Amino acid sequence: MSEDDPDPCDDCGDPLTDALARTVRLTVDRSQIDSQRLCPACFADWIDRYETEMTPEDESNPIEEQTDIIVD
Ligand SMILES: [Zn+2]
Repeated sequence: MSEDDPDPCDDCGDPLTDALARTVRLTVDRSQIDSQRLCPACFADWIDRYETEMTPEDESNPIEEQTDIIVD
């Protein structure tokens, strides 16, 4: 093994090379509240969860914060 083993995915813990890594940063009102380095599979899951959670079920109850997602 090389001395610079890939860092694991933050979600599933699988070794993850930089070439495959996706880093997501979630910010609310310009404050970073979450940052994760994910493999492509977990990244897809994360996006699915994000979109599900950020979609208001009731349009009379809108999300008040300004939420941004940044993907490197
Ligand atoms: Zn993963």
